[in-house]
Amino acid sequence: MFSKILIANRGEIACRVIRTARRLGIKTVAVYSDADRNALHVEMADEAVHIGAAPSAQSYLLIDRIVDACKKTGAQAVHPGYGFLSEKREFQEALAAAGIAFIGPDAHAIQAMGDKIESKKLAKAAGVSTVPGYLGVIADDSEAVTIARDIGYPVMIKASAGGGGKGMRVAWNDEEAREGFRSAQNEARSSFADDRVFVEKYIQQPRHIEIQVLADGQGTALYLGERECSIQRRHQKVIEEAPSPFLDAATRKAMGEQAVALARAVDYKSAGTVEFIVDAERNFYFLEMNTRLQVEHPVTELVTGLDLVELMIRVAAGEKLTLKQEDIHLHGWAIESRVYAEDPFRNFLPSTGRLTHYRPPSEDPHVRVDTGVYEGGEISMYYDPMIAKLCSWGSTRDAAIARMREALDQYYIRGVSHNIPFLASLMANQRFVDGRLTTNFIAEEYPTGFHASDLPPDDPAILIAVAAVIHRCLNDRDIQISGKMPGNKVRVRDDWVVVMDGAQHPVHVRPTDGSPQRIGYTVDFEGRHHVVWSDWTLGQPLFRGTVNGAHVCVQVDRVGVGYRLSHSGSQALVKVLTPNAARLDALMPVKAPPDMSKFLLSPMPGLLVSVAVTEGQEVKAGEVLAVVEAMKMENILRAAQDGTVSKVHATPGSSLAVDQKILEFA
Ligand code: ADP
Repeated sequence: MFSKILIANRGEIACRVIRTARRLGIKTVAVYSDADRNALHVEMADEAVHIGAAPSAQSYLLIDRIVDACKKTGAQAVHPGYGFLSEKREFQEALAAAGIAFIGPDAHAIQAMGDKIESKKLAKAAGVSTVPGYLGVIADDSEAVTIARDIGYPVMIKASAGGGGKGMRVAWNDEEAREGFRSAQNEARSSFADDRVFVEKYIQQPRHIEIQVLADGQGTALYLGERECSIQRRHQKVIEEAPSPFLDAATRKAMGEQAVALARAVDYKSAGTVEFIVDAERNFYFLEMNTRLQVEHPVTELVTGLDLVELMIRVAAGEKLTLKQEDIHLHGWAIESRVYAEDPFRNFLPSTGRLTHYRPPSEDPHVRVDTGVYEGGEISMYYDPMIAKLCSWGSTRDAAIARMREALDQYYIRGVSHNIPFLASLMANQRFVDGRLTTNFIAEEYPTGFHASDLPPDDPAILIAVAAVIHRCLNDRDIQISGKMPGNKVRVRDDWVVVMDGAQHPVHVRPTDGSPQRIGYTVDFEGRHHVVWSDWTLGQPLFRGTVNGAHVCVQVDRVGVGYRLSHSGSQALVKVLTPNAARLDALMPVKAPPDMSKFLLSPMPGLLVSVAVTEGQEVKAGEVLAVVEAMKMENILRAAQDGTVSKVHATPGSSLAVDQKILEFA
């Protein structure tokens, strides 16, 4: 067994690998870029080596720097995590040349599976069912059309070197095939410097179901059940679960055996994933094999009880697997939600900045949080804006969903936007709960994007009762403050008015028998009693307790004289006033938001690449005004209507905050 390993990655996956290594008594070495000096993985590792500047091309992707870091620290093996160098054959080869073990498959398997055309050919030869299509490289758009007609529409045009959902187009007719070929080819050339494109049948109502495989390269190759990853946004996974609600035992076995056959065909060693696309009749077709640990591996760990990172390390150290296929059993259900720093209400724009508050739900056998961030840390613009992977486990799928909803309610993140409201909405979606999934789920259920109206309907009584209790606790504390001026004593009162969304709700709040550990109140309004129990104390961000016996977890932020309450993904601004103050509050004019229609605002945090207009210039609707680069993508901002530029507020080359003024119109 190794005594020291290096983790050639960052963020949650680096932390996750370190955790297992530590449990096995293996020392760990982290590598970090300028942007990650204070990152959690650096803090957690026994040693850390600085490998370069913030952009990953100048640090995490530099093979030589990582090999040097191994030599310097005496690390005997490298775990690559996912992304970065994990599927780079050259990395594997460079390590081998330096006598350092790679915790993953051999270079030949990475190479064989790294290319979509080649891997499909190999899979076909190994008896694996593949999507009907044409496995040659297509020369031009007219050939693409001929082949697409041959296969029969709809077809999918794919870049052979593709990954991460890039370089893929669906075509339903000749026109789209021609256009899809050109754009897939362009995207492939610019993203992967390889413009080979192929065509296959587009599977309708598809589900993405993948098989986890594990092999020791010494004769044992196993399948560890499946994960369903059909909940995707733009071909990127959002929610994953194990097992799949769609597979029966026979299909699971057939898919598992084909996946193992493919692993054997490439002499696979280590953990890997064989991805399939499954149609409505449970026909399954090979998509690709990922020769690394997947982001969503925790759901497999939760239902099998295995630690995949440990098994990868053992296999890399030359141990034989002692597990047999009949030892693999799936227990219960696990779901993973990818928590991202992005704003779901603004078309999922990435959000960066400091996590001013960060309290993940506490972990227990039902909740697992894999994260690489901490309170006070930063979500950097240089890397994937993932905050955490939140997993829940239950004995049934419904129990796992219920547990996920609770955990999402408890997840307290401030300082950056996050997608928890969207995840909460998915968990409450009836079609999701019924397990009627396809990869089009998000596009079909949220056809115009995600809006506040998509949030699960919340019972306003819960928020009113909680607001009343919170305010009453504050009032109870206020009366204990000594040294008040004569005549200014705060009175305890039972009658209040809760103002929520502009509506006034008179309430009556009285204490039930409380104890120092537990507060109890009865809140009466609209002719009903609501009994609230909680262990909440002033200043805590989470109000956890029961309302009429049902568990609730409401996030509480003080905003001016009121509160922002967050529950089930939605938010409400609430004020609790005395009846007199409420009467006057109703008379107060509402402050209108400033008119920003005369400004061009940056829609996202990013870099202002160029400004195409000058002060005094007249522009027509649709004309390019400026270009903002964010997350390696150039976003062209165009004029929404005709007008005259009166002022340019930002200079090219400067970094922009979201909503920062770029231009002003007369
Ligand atoms: P990448 O390597 O970019 O992730 P994949 O080949 O794994 O690309 O495909 C990503 C997703 O695209 C799949 O999960 C599935 O949703 C969709 N997809 C891929 N091929 C097809 C197909 N032939 N028919 C329908 N959907 C497909």
